[in-house]
Amino acid sequence: MPELPEVEVVRAGLAPAITGARVVAVEVVDPRALKRHLPLGGVDAAGVGRHGVSLDAESGALRAADFERRLTGAVLGAPARRGKFLWVPLGGAGEALLAHLGMSGQLLLRAHEAPDDRFMRIHLWISHPTHGELRLDFADQRLFGSLAIDTLVPTPDGKPGGTGTDLAAIPGQALHIARDPLDPAFDDAAFVQGLRARRSAVKVALLDQTLVSGIGNIYADEALWRARLHPGTPASLLSVRKARELLGRTREVFAQALAEGGTSFDAQYVNVNGQAGYFAHSLNAYGRIGVPCPRCDTPIRKITLAGRSSHFCPRCQRKR
Ligand SMILES: [Zn+2]
Repeated sequence: MPELPEVEVVRAGLAPAITGARVVAVEVVDPRALKRHLPLGGVDAAGVGRHGVSLDAESGALRAADFERRLTGAVLGAPARRGKFLWVPLGGAGEALLAHLGMSGQLLLRAHEAPDDRFMRIHLWISHPTHGELRLDFADQRLFGSLAIDTLVPTPDGKPGGTGTDLAAIPGQALHIARDPLDPAFDDAAFVQGLRARRSAVKVALLDQTLVSGIGNIYADEALWRARLHPGTPASLLSVRKARELLGRTREVFAQALAEGGTSFDAQYVNVNGQAGYFAHSLNAYGRIGVPCPRCDTPIRKITLAGRSSHFCPRCQRKR
């Protein structure tokens, strides 16, 4: 499942290739990849099936037609990201192309006439002033992901919407999530205060997207291991110093994942691989039940907190 570093790799890879490009044509091969796209003046979420994957034929056709019409001819701005939300502002329209990668979504940059990848759902043919004709494809095996055109709304703090953009705006569908720790406008002091105000376990607080976004289960476990914090520690018991250290450790884990992901793509062909991540060989705690802790050789243990598995070292992450 793509997490923040994987989505950031996609954003950074797409930026030079698509910023300033014009959308020449759009083809929706499979309207199920538009389940989060709400056509202007029509169709509510009722057309979407219980698991969010199926879409009735009428709703699908309506969404596809609206999506193609609004996107064709648009000039793409610099891609932006907050947490795992990725969006591309559409020139002058006050709208953005929003991508949710879900479990297995991929944005693939391809040569104009390249053959389709497996699980191809949506094609965008684009023309860039310097790179010429390219194709931006959305592929998604499991269809938990989606593309959508969404309205940009002003950010409540008046700062840029996320990493990669100067616009103080964010798609409405992403407005509810907090800034992520890699965001230049992230407020460290507010995060520390917010974390220490939580009654929940620190692990649960780290996964709360309204406090801080983009920290998934893997990165939370790794940051807690580095900070020597038991995942079940009540967040309210953290000192200011420890809360700051945890934030720093989180950024460290992201930085390492990004550095290792930096070799997995080139400027021409970008993709997110939802399968085994390139970061897997750098994990110290996550998914390593029974494997000796790299620090003290004690076997890593697993507990369940608020329904999520947590991996930790019972010796160097003691509960206080
Ligand atoms: Zn240990």
